[in-house]
Amino acid sequence: MATASDRDLETRGIDPDDERALMDTIDRWLERDVIPAVQHHDHNDIWPEKLVGQMSEMGLFGATIGQEYGGLGLPAKTYAKIVIRISSYWMAITGIINSHLIMAAAVERFGTTEQKTRWLPKFASGEIRGGLALTEPNAGTDLQAIRSVAVRDGDDYIINGTKTWITNAINGSCFAMLVKTDPEAEPRYEGISLFIVDKRDGLSAGRKFDKLGYNAIDTAELVMEDYRVPANQLIGGVEGQGFFQATGGLALGRINVAARGVGLAEGSLRLATEYAQQRETMGKPISQHQAIQLKIGEMATRARAARLLTFDAAEAYDRGERCDREAGMAKYFASEAAVENSQEAMRIFGGYSYSKEYDIERFYRDSMVMCIAEGTNEMQRIIIARQHFKNNPA
Ligand SMILES: Cc1cc2nc3c(=O)[nH]c(=O)nc-3n(C[C@H](O)[C@H](O)[C@H](O)COP(=O)(O)OP(=O)(O)OC[C@H]3O[C@@H](n4cnc5c(N)ncnc54)[C@H](O)[C@@H]3O)c2cc1C
Repeated sequence: MATASDRDLETRGIDPDDERALMDTIDRWLERDVIPAVQHHDHNDIWPEKLVGQMSEMGLFGATIGQEYGGLGLPAKTYAKIVIRISSYWMAITGIINSHLIMAAAVERFGTTEQKTRWLPKFASGEIRGGLALTEPNAGTDLQAIRSVAVRDGDDYIINGTKTWITNAINGSCFAMLVKTDPEAEPRYEGISLFIVDKRDGLSAGRKFDKLGYNAIDTAELVMEDYRVPANQLIGGVEGQGFFQATGGLALGRINVAARGVGLAEGSLRLATEYAQQRETMGKPISQHQAIQLKIGEMATRARAARLLTFDAAEAYDRGERCDREAGMAKYFASEAAVENSQEAMRIFGGYSYSKEYDIERFYRDSMVMCIAEGTNEMQRIIIARQHFKNNPA
């Protein structure tokens, strides 16, 4: 019998059996290829080339790209389910797809017809992989302060500047890049544009970051030195739209970060649950001590609340509604849930939490970045509060 969730999928043209089959494929892949390889890649900071190839074969680089461009055309909710499942074993690997899909979403939502037909099929197949290049050394939260500049030169633009903390900067070959086309513009956002930049002379990866966690995924600088890009790679073909285009794509990005937070929170709960039933003190499994039960009760509740908030945001996104508030709430809550659940799991593991033999230390190291990326949690709360006051005037 069709469930409410099945009917929900059907109204969006997705066969529920297709979703179940895709989730089964993901589960088999996790079991067979990912779980045995995680520690090797994470501990040695080695980019997972084979796993990336397999994600490409499964169509994940086109997960949310429209079927007319060769993508899977999945709703945000199905995509969130996939990201949760993978992240509950290894969060970092989902960063490779997420940044890529945000770049693709910018082209799909705001690109010209020529840009969509030229770039999206190659993004969907994984032939071209990339990410989103917004942050600069002096500008993360305050994106309008970026200094990279594109100057028009005939049919081209010439870009100079440096981006930093860019996911996929080394292994990716194409980026949606935010630059100033009019540095004097007031308000500042009117002078900002978004370009599709592909790696060739003048655009190269710079310093790679040696990170606390989120290992095996390359995070590095991108340097533009007199980088010449054809004007037909200005997304949408009109200058001054970039700030809106880049932040417009962040709702999907925040749903993804929320889903990663849910995966980390659920994975931490799973590991703590298993351990608590094996480890004995005072003649019984620690799961029978109330102090541990209190932790597990809170962790299970947090993980479930994070999941529900994430699905709430994804459903609003799939209905085509403005959902920055819902996506912000989900991102904020789920990333904090990831941090809190991984910390509590560390306590449940006791001294063994500090051993790299166990996976829980990775969940602990990987969680914090979810509170920072795609808009810090401080900013999420401020944005939520501002909208709340707007909707509830004095
Ligand atoms: C592992 C990793 C991967 C990343 N990948 C990418 C990527 O692929 N592409 C990309 O473009 N960027 C990426 N980033 C960058 C990330 O988006 C930024 O680090 C983030 O937006 C915060 O910017 P910042 O580091 O400059 O902090 P800042 O903006 O300097 O903020 C510092 C602190 O001040 C607070 N703050 C700032 N302004 C305000 C304000 N107005 N009111 C209240 N509090 C404020 C912030 O909340 C934060 O606590 C990545 C970062 C990391 C760590």
